[in-house]
Amino acid sequence: MIDLRSDTCSQPTEAMRHAMANAPVGDDVYGDDPTVKRLEREVAEFLGKEDAIYMVTGTMTNQVAIRAHTEHGDAVLFDQNAHVYILEGGAPAAFSGVLPRLLPGVRGVFSPDDLQAALGVPHRFFPSTVAAPAKLLCIENTHNLGGGKVWPMERLKAVCQTARQRGLALHLDGARLWHASVATGIPESEYATLFDTVSICFSKAMGAPVGSVLAGSRDFITRARRFKQQFGGGFRQAGIIAAGALYALHNNRGRLAEDHYHAKLLAEGISALPGIALDVATVETNIVRFSVTSMPATEFVDRLYERGLYVLPSGADGVRAIPYLNIAESDIRNAVAIIGSVASEHAGAAGRFGTPGAAPAGQSSAGY
Ligand SMILES: *Cc1c(COP(=O)(O)O)cnc(C)c1O
Repeated sequence: MIDLRSDTCSQPTEAMRHAMANAPVGDDVYGDDPTVKRLEREVAEFLGKEDAIYMVTGTMTNQVAIRAHTEHGDAVLFDQNAHVYILEGGAPAAFSGVLPRLLPGVRGVFSPDDLQAALGVPHRFFPSTVAAPAKLLCIENTHNLGGGKVWPMERLKAVCQTARQRGLALHLDGARLWHASVATGIPESEYATLFDTVSICFSKAMGAPVGSVLAGSRDFITRARRFKQQFGGGFRQAGIIAAGALYALHNNRGRLAEDHYHAKLLAEGISALPGIALDVATVETNIVRFSVTSMPATEFVDRLYERGLYVLPSGADGVRAIPYLNIAESDIRNAVAIIGSVASEHAGAAGRFGTPGAAPAGQSSAGY
């Protein structure tokens, strides 16, 4: 089975397992796990922040960040397809009691004007107490539901500058910030400098089994430590898993360009197939999203699965595939052949499976 469901399906290598098995550990709740402390220090330095905190998931780092940036009843601005809003179990409402205000991003990218429009125009005739106070803007780079879209740096700077002028704090969901940096050559720390807080994941293409890190100012991270504990995230000999993340930081970042190459190869191999809509130019990093026009996506992925290719349906007509470190070029070539065999069998048989309002290629309407 070629498993391209998600880069979270990456398996730790022997060398990583060895590093984990031999990691020095302590009790992280007491603050004395040396491997966790080392990971936190190295990630803080890597991102150019004062401090950092290791947690079990990116959902937890994002949601602890939202909790620590806000009070209940505050408004938080997200793109309409943001992971923090759509794919984190309703956590902003459940844990932080915040009011989402949605931005009309295209593949996750919106403009300073979109932000201004969402924030409204204050005037002294209008009481400042009636609207939920907008406190925080969350940005996702690369954008998952946007098909691994990279925020152009100039646009990102302009949006962050507008957010600052309007008094917002800024959080970056950088689960795949690594991929933005590999694609553009702009270091992670240069993206991070625009934000108060940054979350990065080690459990995806970086190949570690568990964990994410939230970085920010010393005071902010001290506050985040309280909420990590409150959310049930206090762990003990966590150095065992932190060692996997540390190993990934030292050894696996350098190979991510290979995943981008594999994603491009997959996209190029299937874009011209009958019944598939895919603009190769939308594949900027490691995520491949395409639309199926000959049958429902759920049926299409079932047929691929029967032939040994495991991918995810996403919305009515969308499919997602993501290569990662255990996937070789030969797997990609086999995946192209399997998709080709299913696509050509059904070409012309069903005609176009029209989905009113379907998302454009490269952007998912719903799903993972
Ligand atoms: C995967 C992901 C996360 C965090 O996911 P966890 O499974 O909770 O680690 C956050 N943001 C984005 C954009 C993601 O893709």
